[in-house]
Amino acid sequence: MAPSRASKNYQVGGVNVANPYNINTLSKPENYGKQCVRSLTYNHHMNQSYASDVCMEPIFWFVDNFTHLLGPFFVFAVICLTTAVVTICYWIGLPYWWSRNRYMTVFLMIVGHWLLLNVVYNFYKAASVSPGYPPEKELIVEAVSICKKCIAPKPPRTHHCSVCNRCVLKMDHHCPWLNNCVGYHNHRYFFLYMLYTTIGTLFIISFGFELGYGVLFLDETGWKEMEPLQGHPVRFNLSGHIIPVTEMNDYEHDGMAPAQHDLPLPHPSDRSETIHGAILFMALINVATLFALGSLTAWHSTLITRGETSIEAHINKSETKRLAAMNKLYRNPYDYGSRQNWRLFLGVTRKRTWWRHVLLPSSHKPEGNGLTWLAYDSASDNADEWP
Ligand SMILES: [Zn+2]
Ligand SMILES: [Zn+2]
Repeated sequence: MAPSRASKNYQVGGVNVANPYNINTLSKPENYGKQCVRSLTYNHHMNQSYASDVCMEPIFWFVDNFTHLLGPFFVFAVICLTTAVVTICYWIGLPYWWSRNRYMTVFLMIVGHWLLLNVVYNFYKAASVSPGYPPEKELIVEAVSICKKCIAPKPPRTHHCSVCNRCVLKMDHHCPWLNNCVGYHNHRYFFLYMLYTTIGTLFIISFGFELGYGVLFLDETGWKEMEPLQGHPVRFNLSGHIIPVTEMNDYEHDGMAPAQHDLPLPHPSDRSETIHGAILFMALINVATLFALGSLTAWHSTLITRGETSIEAHINKSETKRLAAMNKLYRNPYDYGSRQNWRLFLGVTRKRTWWRHVLLPSSHKPEGNGLTWLAYDSASDNADEWP
């Protein structure tokens, strides 16, 4: 016997429902209302990722419209935090090390200032140097596509930044902490800022650990070792004269036991409480920065080794998947091999040296013009022409 119409399930509004023609089902007011709403709101293209995109839309809108306004506050916060960390190093760390080992202090001062110089210089350059934009009102022969938002030609590796509202050459990402886009001209400064800041926090944690541990966990003020007591014990008498104590065990001669006093313990001074707070601040800020910037530096190092930007990492991943499904191998056209990728990224080309142009601040420009890029295949053919 053929199944009756009433026992079949039907798709209405993308949902399995009992036979909608069954007049008995629809006659119930709640079912009728449900089907009405479903049929009016049905969208064949609706799926989970579309729905989550729509839900995220207010967040994207907020980021696009307010990142620009919040940028100066983020930059101000970075400057304040860095200044506070350096001030505490001078105020507490420097006298601590000076009282322990003067030669070591000189060494730490040289390394610390070398790191500070690189951090400040690279932050200033990353925030102030323009990332590079495609030329306007000019014919761009290198253009590979058209930006739908700028309605303008787009050279290879260029992407549109929705915060800056313009196209950026070799765009990596928009950084709120720099209030600037990271792209072709300032990518090196951005990476070196992260690298030197990570090394800087590691430096502070390593050489401030013992001091911090003593203050936070052993309840030392940190001043004991900085200002050790000098001289010998003295005794006051009623005439106001100070008499040096020459024998430490006076009492034993008289056959008397030293008197026991329950003296009140001194209250921790305001100064030691401030030091405690400063050390706690240093511990939190340095450990947090080490984890945050350390992992970001490691991630960007992987990208540089592979010759790709943050945006290209997504594109290359989906292209690899797409071609793998067709049994084909995808190759990033801008990956010239890890060593050459690093040389080009850091601009250690044209007889520039690592110690002068990476270890010390340097304003040299990146290779090329940001519009033309050698693809891997042509690059291997022109290996002799590498700078
Ligand atoms: Zn654009
Ligand atoms: Zn931007």
